[in-house]
Amino acid sequence: MADKRDYYEVLGVDKNADDAAIKKAYRALAKKYHPDTNPGDKEAEAKFKEASEAYAVLSDKEKRQKYDQFGHAAFDGGAGGGGFEFNFDDMGDIFGDLFGGMFGGGRSRNPNAPQKGANIRTSIRVTFEEAAFGCEKELELTLKDECTSCHGSGTKPGTNPVTCSKCGGKGQIVYTQQSLFGMVRNVQTCPDCKGNGKVVKDKCPDCYGTGYKSSRKKIQVTVPAGIDNGQSIRIRGKGEPGINGGERGDLLVEVAVSRHPLFERQDYTVYSDSPITFAQAALGGDIKIKTIDGEVLFNIKPGTQTNTKVRLRNKGIPTLRNKQVRGDHIVTLVVQVPERMNAEQKEALRAFDDAMGGSLNVGKEEEKPKEEKEKKKKGIFDKIKDSFEGQNS
Ligand SMILES: [Zn+2]
Ligand SMILES: [Zn+2]
Repeated sequence: MADKRDYYEVLGVDKNADDAAIKKAYRALAKKYHPDTNPGDKEAEAKFKEASEAYAVLSDKEKRQKYDQFGHAAFDGGAGGGGFEFNFDDMGDIFGDLFGGMFGGGRSRNPNAPQKGANIRTSIRVTFEEAAFGCEKELELTLKDECTSCHGSGTKPGTNPVTCSKCGGKGQIVYTQQSLFGMVRNVQTCPDCKGNGKVVKDKCPDCYGTGYKSSRKKIQVTVPAGIDNGQSIRIRGKGEPGINGGERGDLLVEVAVSRHPLFERQDYTVYSDSPITFAQAALGGDIKIKTIDGEVLFNIKPGTQTNTKVRLRNKGIPTLRNKQVRGDHIVTLVVQVPERMNAEQKEALRAFDDAMGGSLNVGKEEEKPKEEKEKKKKGIFDKIKDSFEGQNS
């Protein structure tokens, strides 16, 4: 222990620091290096222990006095005498005091206090529309109920649980361990009584000592309009029964929303594609658009380009808070190019193209072999020549 750091140095405080300053310094270090916030970090753990030890000494008037007088020797059984047992169990009290139980390091709870039962998680699947507009679903679950014979104690009627012999009724087992800086006390929940301090000797024959009976139960679930994939519905009091007369836990129902062939959703906005023909895009007019309310008429402007997005206000998903308030539906208009046409249709389209300036003939020149082009050029010159000749004659 010769290379042990000075306790004041560890906490980063002055030799004359008062209790408040020491507490403040330790609180900051403990928060930073606590094993709960640095899981698996050996260095942080060592720093945490070092700071805790320094605090345990400097926060105690008598120990601090001894330390000031003799240094570390005060606690290692040397000059000062009376070895120092570093006690993590006591540290639990310091944590309770400093952090209000933030690390769960506080002292043992009363094992007989009422405790709320555990929550149960389950899930249901709903369609896109059911999620949008809400629905009622029925769930069938195996739920535990307090055994009516023993009222949840698990003991045979007429008998009582006996004090746990392993922990003497404390619910905890304390053991000491040699560590780098002396003996460390560790506290564990008693494995025999699971912290209750009592064990059942004569089990209730109706529930085999569990205190519960299970049965299949039907539960109505009201799925609210607007719920999204992955969100949960909490049904109070449908979880596990409480302990020692505590209230029941809750049932948490996670909602899985099936995909829709046409619609996609982002929060309360619905997205979809709507095909339009070239004629509709060019000339404009009314088109039918599918929404979650059914088909609606929408007037598109002449000259609408493909991938134009239009917003249908209040045609999206009702909001969870108020189903009268709804998101929008954004529709992407996609101009469809016909994949197959009959002769008549092709003719009509060529006629249209001619009327638009004949885009179909662009590039025809270049595609032809060179000789043919020469020939054609020559032909034009010939024609001009001919016309001159004709004038002259
Ligand atoms: Zn029972
Ligand atoms: Zn026990």
